[in-house]
Amino acid sequence: MDADRASEGPLSLQGTLDLLAQTIVNALGFELAAINYVDSPNRVTVVSVAGPDEVREHLLGSTESLENWVRILDACTSWGRLRFLDHATRDEEPSMRWWVPDFEVQDGDDAWHPEDALFAPLHASDGQLLGVLSVDLPRDGRRPDQATRDALEGFGVSAALAIEHANLRAKAEQSEELFRYLASRDPVTGLGNRSVVLERLERTLATTRFRDRLTALLFIDLDGFKRVNDEHSHALGDQVLHALARRLEAAVETGDTVARWGGDEFIVLSHALDDHAAGVALAARIQDAVAEPLRVSGQSTGLTCSIGVVFIERREPSTVKELLRRADIAMYAAKREGRQRIFVFDEVLRNAAEREETVERLVRTATGRDRLVPLFQPIVSLADCRIVGFEVLLRLRDDEGQLMAPDEFLAIAGRTGDLVRMEPEAMRRAFAHAAAWGQLGFPLRVSVNVSVRQLDEIDEFERRVRSALAESGLMPSAVTFELTEHAFFDVSPKTLHGMSRLVDEGLSFSVDDFGTGFGSMTYLRAMPINEIKIDRSFIQHTPTERASSAIVRAHATLARELGVRCVAEGIETPEQHDFLLETGIEYGQGYLYERPLARESFSRLLQNGQALTFHRTPEPSSSR
Ligand code: C2E
Ligand code: CA
Ligand code: CA
Repeated sequence: MDADRASEGPLSLQGTLDLLAQTIVNALGFELAAINYVDSPNRVTVVSVAGPDEVREHLLGSTESLENWVRILDACTSWGRLRFLDHATRDEEPSMRWWVPDFEVQDGDDAWHPEDALFAPLHASDGQLLGVLSVDLPRDGRRPDQATRDALEGFGVSAALAIEHANLRAKAEQSEELFRYLASRDPVTGLGNRSVVLERLERTLATTRFRDRLTALLFIDLDGFKRVNDEHSHALGDQVLHALARRLEAAVETGDTVARWGGDEFIVLSHALDDHAAGVALAARIQDAVAEPLRVSGQSTGLTCSIGVVFIERREPSTVKELLRRADIAMYAAKREGRQRIFVFDEVLRNAAEREETVERLVRTATGRDRLVPLFQPIVSLADCRIVGFEVLLRLRDDEGQLMAPDEFLAIAGRTGDLVRMEPEAMRRAFAHAAAWGQLGFPLRVSVNVSVRQLDEIDEFERRVRSALAESGLMPSAVTFELTEHAFFDVSPKTLHGMSRLVDEGLSFSVDDFGTGFGSMTYLRAMPINEIKIDRSFIQHTPTERASSAIVRAHATLARELGVRCVAEGIETPEQHDFLLETGIEYGQGYLYERPLARESFSRLLQNGQALTFHRTPEPSSSR
């Protein structure tokens, strides 16, 4: 540590020591004051001198061994009892230069040699020697009185405090630096962590305008790393990550950033690329490095990775969040294509990302601007193809007036929380239509899909259902809520109670996509279930495929034994219809009878007679 190390106070340590030395000379009338500083284990350097210029220049920066100083100080005893040293010839004691203690000097004695000096050790509070204050007596030989010596002692203590304070501060800064360093490190791989990525990205964005070279952000996700963790131990997983981190570091250029983003995700920032091709080449190099067979703790593993690449272009000032989002989208696009792929965020993905933003906007305004369009798909009695009910299927109208299918917006609406607003709205309208059709002489059952999110707020859900029933005048017994098998599995006791209350009031719950969820069917015992809907994936392979046909038969039997209704969904061919009829399943739904229809078309269908013949009509103005 240097004595002139700048501190953050009003004065640096150097400034403080210079001021002290100056004051000793100016205010106390000494010829010279020098502060000697222990700056390495066995070296003492003169860091501050006040006095005649030529002496100053000569002394400043000169060094002495700590050993010598200790000997001199031992001879002088402590600061409290200053001992004056007499001048001796250099030849006598070369190792101690020209200072030797003179124990003969008495307090009352005024006979001072002009080159006599005073020394005072500067001690830290723990007793450690920090340095020495040395003072040359006034030329006039006047002996310092007690007050002057007290003042001198005070300056010595001040110098010691100043040095100790600076040392402490330096130590604190060092440990702060260490702490900052540790906080930015990932303990498993030793790479930088998220905070490093965020900071570097901020810096990159701030300087992109001034740069000629291209920066690439690579989002790397290991393929199948979960398997390593599952099949072996987590400790081995950590070792694999550590080894791969070293490979990543070896694959990039000096100056590039390699960081662990979390789990089995890494980020590389490469700052000096010539063009896009160089960025893709780097990604390929990283993939090759990762794919090299790896032996860890006697186990060998083979891993690959998927990489999403985003180039940070000068013309496109973006935010860190947006860059990471794009990298994430590109990486997931790569994952979808299979293992060991590289995807660059380009026009295609940009369009997808923009589409997602559009959908987010659409779902936000879904109820307000009549973007929400419920369609109605008939559910028929298989025996006579009469319409006995309908399922409400949501559509979202986009800016061009096209109807979007649920797979395009459900996940987003679920994520943004808008779905729990959209569903009740659709339910309210469906109840109203069903009541109106009932009054026209078509009493129909209404099936409404309910998301887990909505059901989680069971009190709210019950309230909504009751108010929609009251508003429409529809009988509770006409209503069935369709829940996926998953939803039944996750139900909390509180929700279960709410569902039971609704069932007691005459409403029904149906297991949607039955057979696709969990292996265990124990939930059927505990849940208030009135219906199962056999999933289309089984129906579509009947009657040709034996396994599917057997499963459907088993489901039909199960429903009968449980005393619940059974609906087969996704019926597309007369052969499927015949097969299902033969299994004893009572109800069916599918394109064979009718596609989901707009309200007007559904009304017209009813007016034409409730019994349907097998035919197809296209879904109204659907985009897909
Ligand atoms: P789902 O509940 O299984 O709905 C049946 C889906 O199968 C509907 O797709 C319907 O159009 C389609 N479908 C009906 N018959 C046939 C057929 O013969 N062949 C084929 N290939 N498909 C047929 P859609 O309308 O696209 O709905 C997809 C999914 O979106 C629904 O699957 C449902 O899970 C979900 N969904 C729709 N509306 C809502 C809603 O209001 N809330 C929630 N949570 N989910 C909804
Ligand atoms: Ca459904
Ligand atoms: Ca279904």
